Amino acid sequence: MQRIEKTILLPVLVVFLAVMAVVGISFFMSLNSNQKELDAAAAEYGESTRNVIRDRLNIFEETLHAGLGLFAGNQAVNKDQFNQFINTSAVLERYPGAQSVAYAKVVPRDQLGTFQDSLRTTLNPTFTVYPEGSRDVYAPVVFIEPQSDSNKKIVGFDAYSESVRQKALIRARDSGKVTVTEVVQSLFDTTPEGRAFVMYAPQYKTGMPISTTEERQAAIEGYLYAGFRISRFMESVLPADGDDNGRAAFKVSIGGEDQEFYKAKNYDQIISGGHISKTTDLNVGNNTLRFTVVRQSAGLFSSGDSQPLAILIFGLVAAILISGAVWLILRGKANELLLEQERGINEAKDNLLSLASHQLRTPATGVKQYLGMILQGFAGDVDPHQRQLIEKAYASNERQLKTINDVLYMARLGSGRIILSKSTFLIRDLLQDIVRELDNEATARHHKITVKVPKRKKEFYGDAHMVRMAIENLITNAIKYTRDNGKITIQLSYTKDEIRISVKDNGIGIDKSQQDRLFEQFERIDNDLSIAVGGSGIGLYVVRNIAGMHDGHVEVESELDNGSTFTIVLPATAK
Ligand code: ADP
Repeated sequence: MQRIEKTILLPVLVVFLAVMAVVGISFFMSLNSNQKELDAAAAEYGESTRNVIRDRLNIFEETLHAGLGLFAGNQAVNKDQFNQFINTSAVLERYPGAQSVAYAKVVPRDQLGTFQDSLRTTLNPTFTVYPEGSRDVYAPVVFIEPQSDSNKKIVGFDAYSESVRQKALIRARDSGKVTVTEVVQSLFDTTPEGRAFVMYAPQYKTGMPISTTEERQAAIEGYLYAGFRISRFMESVLPADGDDNGRAAFKVSIGGEDQEFYKAKNYDQIISGGHISKTTDLNVGNNTLRFTVVRQSAGLFSSGDSQPLAILIFGLVAAILISGAVWLILRGKANELLLEQERGINEAKDNLLSLASHQLRTPATGVKQYLGMILQGFAGDVDPHQRQLIEKAYASNERQLKTINDVLYMARLGSGRIILSKSTFLIRDLLQDIVRELDNEATARHHKITVKVPKRKKEFYGDAHMVRMAIENLITNAIKYTRDNGKITIQLSYTKDEIRISVKDNGIGIDKSQQDRLFEQFERIDNDLSIAVGGSGIGLYVVRNIAGMHDGHVEVESELDNGSTFTIVLPATAK
């Protein structure tokens, strides 16, 4: 059986490995497809947010451009006109995110006093340009909408006084384009919430040429601008938390220095276990916004549509089941083959057995009959010397036949083909028959055989041929292993439950230490007689086997140099 398992192990292993290879490929394909899927989703997400932000800023840009028209006339714009413009364009309502829309006027230092005075009369008696300090040019806020308390405080603030704003103001002025600042801090909010940016649209004096930078620098009159809190602006354009259901997030930096403009809350968390998916630049408001989208790495669990871990687990189970099935099928087939082979071998053995029994037994039996006939005087008178020789030949022939029978029995036992052919018979009669048959052998050794049988008859149900063989073996052994002129007593006795057939001799006996192994196959005990008489070491094995098949057993009592008694014990009720 072990041989079968070794033979089928290889194909089963091959099947297992083949299935696992498919599983492995599917697993990696699934991981890969998830990665691609995540990349595509992240790219799409980045693209769409980028577009929303671009569109929103473009709208503000256009609105500011449009607003410049208000200042195109020769007449100075007043607060109400500005208010009206903001209300009619409804820019703040339509595009939330802007904190304020305002107008700042460019005032050279030498005109600051006059400017301030005129505004105190036309706009607000407390109008003051701040922060204090001497600068070449000022750009104080004149109008601002909506008129919230915090916005009102901005009126008078000089945007030129602060470097980031100033840089954008100059860029706007020189380029003539609406320009977005880098990150600035809200004037009255120093918390991260106060991080802000401003979009400036330059307004030039009507009628002045503005084709070159110099002309634009000379013509600059003021700025229309929109102010944004970054967080509020982003919230107004982003769906939720600035991420894509936790799978992707982005950050935006601004300007050449890659200054951080905005970063989604879970950006750091995602990038720590993930990948940068895409970086794109958005040129808007005369500035550059750099978008960096990050995405989760595709894990074993379902990060995408396919589930690598599930594929792995189900694949493994499938591989085990398939190889198990292949194992079972192959083992079944191999067993079938083995049985067929065994059947073939048994058939060959049977044929050999019947051939052997015919070829060995028949001639040996013939010899026995002829020798018997000579001894009985069928071929004329036999003188004592001749008789002695023929009796020896007869005894040898007896032993030969017995050995042939034992060997054939062993062969049949080996192939499991001993079937008892049971009938009811008298062991008493059987005993007497056997002793008569073995008489010549005993006589050749000058043994005296005594048979003691009870008067009462007791039938036994068993295989007469087998029981005869067992008893014959014991008597032959007694004849063999007793020196000439020995005494052999064969006794049959019954108890309520048992039939006991004992063969007692006064032969060479067996040492106690040797008695256990007597009944083993091919075991012989070396002594001068066993060497002289010869034997195969299977006689007692056969005896015990036959007794066992009849639910009986064999007992031995012996002492070295003091004779032996072998007893076959059979159940009296054996049926
Ligand atoms: P064999 O007689 O062919 O050697 P057996 O199985 O019949 O094989 O006996 C095994 C051994 O037991 C014999 O070799 C012999 O030494 C010992 N033996 C059997 N019967 C007797 C006996 N009656 N007296 C002494 N020794 C015996």
